[in-house]
Amino acid sequence: MNIQTKLCFDDILIVPRNSIVNSRKDVSLVKKFTFRGGRTWCGIPIVVSNMDSTGTFEMAKACGIYKLLTCIHKYYSVSDWKTFIQNESYNNKSILNYVAVSTGISNQDIKKLNDILTLSNLINVICVDVANGYIPNFLQVIESIRKKYPNKIIIAGNVVTPERCKELYTAGVDIIKIGIGSGSVCLTRKQTGIGYPQASAVNDCKSDFKHHIMSDGGCKNAGDVCKAFAMGADFVMLGSVFSGHIESAGEIVEENGNRFKLFYGMSSKHKMNKYDNGVNNYRSSEGKCVRVLVKGFVKNTITDLLGGLRSHISYIGFDSLQHYDYTKITKIKTTIQLNPIYN
Ligand code: 5GP
Repeated sequence: MNIQTKLCFDDILIVPRNSIVNSRKDVSLVKKFTFRGGRTWCGIPIVVSNMDSTGTFEMAKACGIYKLLTCIHKYYSVSDWKTFIQNESYNNKSILNYVAVSTGISNQDIKKLNDILTLSNLINVICVDVANGYIPNFLQVIESIRKKYPNKIIIAGNVVTPERCKELYTAGVDIIKIGIGSGSVCLTRKQTGIGYPQASAVNDCKSDFKHHIMSDGGCKNAGDVCKAFAMGADFVMLGSVFSGHIESAGEIVEENGNRFKLFYGMSSKHKMNKYDNGVNNYRSSEGKCVRVLVKGFVKNTITDLLGGLRSHISYIGFDSLQHYDYTKITKIKTTIQLNPIYN
């Protein structure tokens, strides 16, 4: 049997080449994407995960200012959406360009999706999210969403193989979400043995599937986001990096002078106790629940991410994300990433 080695972000680095800009401040990160049927989206393709602690309306307001996309979690009611849309349409209509409505695939989920989309035709992005993107129902539900909403952009996942990317694309998905088991609070690998190291998942999907993909999970910092783009991701979704902010959900708990917020997996026991009346006896928890130190307002994190990405682009001979070409970037496999002397 031929078992191949696959890599995560900590296994790789990017080799610099001659710059075409003299300063990172000359690098533009806003990119225009054109999907099938003429659907378009323009913004910075860093995406807030639809986890209920990160994909909040408050986060969308803060990130939308920077043109980042927020996948709003599916636990808001239709009336919560109504309030958000009314307030935002009044204050700043363009924020709605930078939100996606997340949905599962149950009949109840789809009804709610329809109810939310009826509230405003300014919402153009739908995120169909299941833990296992290989179940047969997933394709059928996507086909019916595509039929009903020919002009909306559909993000859907998660999968890690190009064959499944192709099937999802044929079913009508515009952006395929890649990642199983890479997330910071994910226990899928421990519980099921299933997964694919994230850098290789992106690389291997993109090598054999030429349409848009979103790397989801496993980015710990700006450098990992850059590596995800370098491996071929068109969009990069982040959970943990956006956790623990003022705009994230959850009460602040104080202990020994430190302030924390809870951050937990969407398949964790904590989440199932909160929304699903506990863990069903046919399944187990596939997510962790952790406390993260409160990081302050998310704009500081965004500035850090965008600064890192601008610098990355200036190091490898491009002037913008629009002109970024991952196929021209040399990646190397490393044994050590950071000098450990002050660890
Ligand atoms: P992070 O950026 O925190 O490393 O990863 C975020 C991603 O982890 C999410 O967007 C989602 O795809 C995934 N995720 C969130 N909660 C869970 C969970 O409970 N179990 C698993 N397997 N994945 C999760």
